Amino acid sequence: MTKRVPIHLPLFQRFDCHQCGYCCRGLVVNVNAEERRRIISAGWVGKLAGIRLFESYRLLGRRYYRLAHRPEGGCVFLGQDGLCRLHAETGVATKPLPCRLYPFVPSPGADVVRVDLRFDCPSVAANRGRPLSVHLADISALAAEIGARPMTRPPDWRGQRNMTPREFTALAATFEGLLRREGLPIRSRLLAGCGLLDLVYGLQIASVRNDRFAELMSLLAEATFEEARKASPDAPSAAMPARAGKLFRQWLFLHSLADDPQDLAIGLVGRRLRSWRRYRQSRRFSAGTGPVPACRPDWPSACFEDLFRVAPAPDEALEPVCRSLRVKLETHAFSGPAYFGYETLAGLTALWLMPSVVGWFARLRAVAEGATALTTESVIEGLRQAHHTFGVSPVFRQISERFRLRALARPGIPRAILAQYGP
Ligand code: SF4
Repeated sequence: MTKRVPIHLPLFQRFDCHQCGYCCRGLVVNVNAEERRRIISAGWVGKLAGIRLFESYRLLGRRYYRLAHRPEGGCVFLGQDGLCRLHAETGVATKPLPCRLYPFVPSPGADVVRVDLRFDCPSVAANRGRPLSVHLADISALAAEIGARPMTRPPDWRGQRNMTPREFTALAATFEGLLRREGLPIRSRLLAGCGLLDLVYGLQIASVRNDRFAELMSLLAEATFEEARKASPDAPSAAMPARAGKLFRQWLFLHSLADDPQDLAIGLVGRRLRSWRRYRQSRRFSAGTGPVPACRPDWPSACFEDLFRVAPAPDEALEPVCRSLRVKLETHAFSGPAYFGYETLAGLTALWLMPSVVGWFARLRAVAEGATALTTESVIEGLRQAHHTFGVSPVFRQISERFRLRALARPGIPRAILAQYGP
């Protein structure tokens, strides 16, 4: 009998695979020794004679193997019909686990295993497919296969103050609840979240625990909601200090660094040249003027100033951004083990910078299309590009990024960034 573990799904999200092939072309799929053995035993060395099945590369001192790609792009097992040949010809059991999991990410929740989703998948971003409940049995079996467990303890609040599972769950539910409140435009809900974040950073709550903590959170959320209801979403924010803009654009630059699967095996000279190229690109992002460096191969030629001329999206086009934040909160995937071990408030700050990263990527897409305003399509594209690295790229593990977030978490800064860069 297949083993399963109890899991919690964000039931407002839908998904079915529409076989677009993105995950077979743009992602690095690492394979372990057992997965390599299964593929070789299924006869694939003979079936793809003369074609390398795996590539090895070193990262941070460790050796990894990944599924090889063809020179024109795409996994070596991707068939002409756009479907996976491993799946079609030797059965789903020969597919490496990352391929079977995608776009699901079983994540350690404070209470049970919660299932996050990758928003770089077009079907997830656009909420296309059946409700997630229909996938419950499959995801639960996959979660058991990877040995998914709840957190042993929730991440600290900030500094020394720890959090109980009750408090962590209440905090995540408070922010999630604010995002789904009716009677406020989505833009106002996102701004209200920035206000709530400012409030919780200022709290001195060493002895406010569990149920009293949950009550406090709900009072603060109510106050923030009322304030946002009275304010106009277009009311000008406080001016953003130049240093905060620079720090945010550096954060943005790091989200732009998508590893090309072909690039992982380059030698020392190639790595040095890449580091030099990236250093120059990061300086351009810091300056925030002049030509946008071509960090990703499909980026158009544009100037930073061009992006500011693109008008924001209509409010209904922000639904995918709001939903992606709700999924991260509902699945506890915004701090702790699901987000590079970040403390709770640092993780919340990173999450609330996400819509601004999306807005910048979406504007770049709009400029490429000659559009003067963001649309639902450009916002979805921005969301997908941002989630290609958000919560994934190991660069955010670095201590320097925690310091950067600390500087960006000062009162009023996330709100000013959202007003300037958000979609
Ligand atoms: S990216 Fe999503 S929709 Fe496209 S093939 Fe992969 S799982 Fe299916």
